[in-house]
Amino acid sequence: MTETAAQAEPYYLPAGNEIDIFERCHEQRLAVMLKGPTGCGKTRFVEHMAWRLKRPLITIACHDDLAASDLIGRFLIRHDGTQWQDGPLTRAAREGAICYLDEVVEARQDTVVILHALTDHRRILPIDKTGEIVQAAPGFQLVVSYNPGYQRMLKDLKPSTRQRFVAMDLDFPGAEQEMEIIRQESGTDHATAHALVTLAHRIRSLRDRGLAEVPSTRLLIATALLAKNGIPVKEACYAGLISPLSDDESLVSAMRDLVDATF
Ligand code: ADP
Repeated sequence: MTETAAQAEPYYLPAGNEIDIFERCHEQRLAVMLKGPTGCGKTRFVEHMAWRLKRPLITIACHDDLAASDLIGRFLIRHDGTQWQDGPLTRAAREGAICYLDEVVEARQDTVVILHALTDHRRILPIDKTGEIVQAAPGFQLVVSYNPGYQRMLKDLKPSTRQRFVAMDLDFPGAEQEMEIIRQESGTDHATAHALVTLAHRIRSLRDRGLAEVPSTRLLIATALLAKNGIPVKEACYAGLISPLSDDESLVSAMRDLVDATF
């Protein structure tokens, strides 16, 4: 769990009117669901919006062990008795923060259900263990993200949960924008950014051949950083782009061929 209040503007290059939609949601107290592949900019977008709206941001990375008490809080045992400690969701509701639950499908259903009363007009969080009902402060907003392609069928959000959110589809940026982002984030030159984006497009088309995870903007930035800092570009591509994606020999070899054809 992390809590941030950004001083400097987190760099975010919009793809469409997502900033506007998010602002309207914030204003109208609507919860937001960000859908899109890993590394496409969902977290950065939320960081940028928290900065724009001047709200603190509390981020929770969801996992299948995440219990309701991890979000709401628990009694801590001390030498002189027990003391209640708010969890991150409760703190966000009290402080009027933006609460971002990353990869929400990873959380157990019984954990996700506690979000329901916060997403409708009541905007409340009942704390069973203390009997308190926390009324969310005005700036509070719930934002969740998930990757629709990942573990599809195995895990999905219940319709009763999904329908509580305004959904925004984010995807990898267009070629020109992705080049711009790589240049901004890594400081690499135009030619390298261009070649990396060309390579990414070629590798992304291997999805049809069984590549489960395709290269994200994040991986392209990491590769550009390696190359910018002295690693020969092909080696940077193997370490930064190919190896993280697959262990399958034939796919790795197909991707190596694409690197050789690009650089
Ligand atoms: P996600 O949360 O979707 O997994 P992130 O927000 O962590 O992905 O994005 C990974 C990285 O890619 C960010 O740290 C940022 O450097 C970069 N990035 C992706 N999209 C954008 C964008 N539209 N504007 C600025 N940076 C971006």
